[in-house]
Amino acid sequence: MVSLKNITMRYPTGNVALKDVSLDIKKGEFVFLIGPSGAGKSTLIRLLTKEINPTAGVLTVNGKNLTKLHKRRIPKYRRQIGIVFQDYKLLEKLNAYDNIAFALDVLGKKGRYIRRHVPLLLNLVGLAGKGKQMPLQLSGGEQQRVSIARAVAGNPDILICDEPTGNLDPETSWGLMDLLEKLNTYGTTIIMATHSRDIVDVMKKRVIELEDGVVIRDEVHGGYR
Ligand code: ADP
Repeated sequence: MVSLKNITMRYPTGNVALKDVSLDIKKGEFVFLIGPSGAGKSTLIRLLTKEINPTAGVLTVNGKNLTKLHKRRIPKYRRQIGIVFQDYKLLEKLNAYDNIAFALDVLGKKGRYIRRHVPLLLNLVGLAGKGKQMPLQLSGGEQQRVSIARAVAGNPDILICDEPTGNLDPETSWGLMDLLEKLNTYGTTIIMATHSRDIVDVMKKRVIELEDGVVIRDEVHGGYR
């Protein structure tokens, strides 16, 4: 589903963020991406979302060679993956319902479909009845749930999460991990960059550890160490 073959990423500044990285992630996996600051985690995520292109190597997602994907096709590709950020990135002037509705609208869904699906998505992330709340009236955990609902609105095969619990307290983070685990059991592949030792240790998922742009560990049921 995700395949990196000898991926090297050198920024124009000369910084080499990934060095000859090869790895495969299969459909339905739950993968933690860990490593100290500067290890290359965000770079890997930005390659997967095709914000940047590798200097060398072949990157395939869902059978598509991203290195060869035409610029014109990037929006369509991005609609097939879900992305969750540390800072939620909700539209502040829209309430929770409309943030999700907007995502469905962008996907080309019709009004009737949207009216039927937004409540289902709110329910899925545990926010039934909170649709009218504006983002700033919601707690951090609730805002992140809205952003997850938005990310999975198009039923993506892959959900990419960049430090999704980075701004949340531990208890709220665990609630969020339960939600991600639930989505994973429904079949969504989850790739999550994190610094949270506790979460990685308790969840016992696949751990890919980067250091200085190199994979130094890849364990099926790993911990943080
Ligand atoms: P992490 O997410 O693990 O903290 P990054 O992928 O952000 O790591 O960074 C990896 C390396 O790439 C670092 O040395 C960083 O300085 C460098 N880097 C990241 N983004 C850029 C950029 N836009 N331009 C130049 N160098 C960058």
